[in-house]
Amino acid sequence: MHTCPWCTTEYVNWQSQCKQCGGPLPPPPGMKLGEPPPPAPRKLPSTYVKRVRWTENIATLVGLGFTGIGLLIAVPMLANKLWLPALIPGFFLLGGVSMFRHGWKSAAGRLRAFKSGKAVEGRIERVGIDASQQINGRHPSRVVYHFPIGDQWHEGQIITFDTTATLRSSGQPVWVLYNENDPNENAIYPPLS
Ligand SMILES: [Zn+2]
Repeated sequence: MHTCPWCTTEYVNWQSQCKQCGGPLPPPPGMKLGEPPPPAPRKLPSTYVKRVRWTENIATLVGLGFTGIGLLIAVPMLANKLWLPALIPGFFLLGGVSMFRHGWKSAAGRLRAFKSGKAVEGRIERVGIDASQQINGRHPSRVVYHFPIGDQWHEGQIITFDTTATLRSSGQPVWVLYNENDPNENAIYPPLS
């Protein structure tokens, strides 16, 4: 099975371009470097933008949930002038907002790298399970990649529940896009998840 990394459509036979969203599919697992990214500004499939911001973004989803719960509990307390007890949902609210902002900011950086980042040839460094995180009893996979800027190597990583990412192996060359004024905003092209 080959999964389109932009919109998750599945194909039995590999194709270079997704029929659903038009995004390019990564080359089949192996050691080959795919087609280079098109010149910036690149157009991103809208389903992918939604996935990066919301459906696959743990921080924005959980942050939004905490913010909502905090508001639901804090607002009636404040309306009844229960200042001190409202501190607890207040902390929930603050934590939720900061988590949401973090998720939104990292999504924006990643999307900026896809849209206007500079393309360089990098490589997969290692692929493994991220035992430090757990959601519903499952550990996500972590893919670490390196890419050169001048004579320095930078590191980027992807943490995902998408198992296609783990089909990559260390040493495999990949295209990496990064923002020249902030290389911490980077992404593998085509995306791994
Ligand atoms: Zn697609």
